[in-house]
Amino acid sequence: MHLHKGAIPIDAIHTAMEPVDRVTLYRTLKSLSSKGIIHKAYQEQNETHYAICGNTCDSDHHHHQHIHFKCTTCKNVSCEKPANTLGISIPDYDVHHVSVQVEGICKECKYASSSIM
Ligand SMILES: [Zn+2]
Ligand SMILES: [Zn+2]
Ligand SMILES: [Zn+2]
Repeated sequence: MHLHKGAIPIDAIHTAMEPVDRVTLYRTLKSLSSKGIIHKAYQEQNETHYAICGNTCDSDHHHHQHIHFKCTTCKNVSCEKPANTLGISIPDYDVHHVSVQVEGICKECKYASSSIM
């Protein structure tokens, strides 16, 4: 399993947990998520990534102030701290978790491609 810093595709988690079936896998992920251990980092049509939570999360709430970055070159998803803070608030609502999906080229790929060219 290729473990980049950050998020793990659900298929890789499934492979690591085999012979667990898909239903059990989703149930396990859901319970880990509700305990504040992992969070859904990225979701596309048929591809979901999960990432390990830091110690800011507990069993009641996830407290994240980071973005999810997907590299379009190496397809890795990672949790990244943005240079600017995500100050998202909605009047009369309690915001616990801000999830932002960003796509681009990661640091590794950026420097790898510039050294080839
Ligand atoms: Zn969390
Ligand atoms: Zn990359
Ligand atoms: Zn994350």
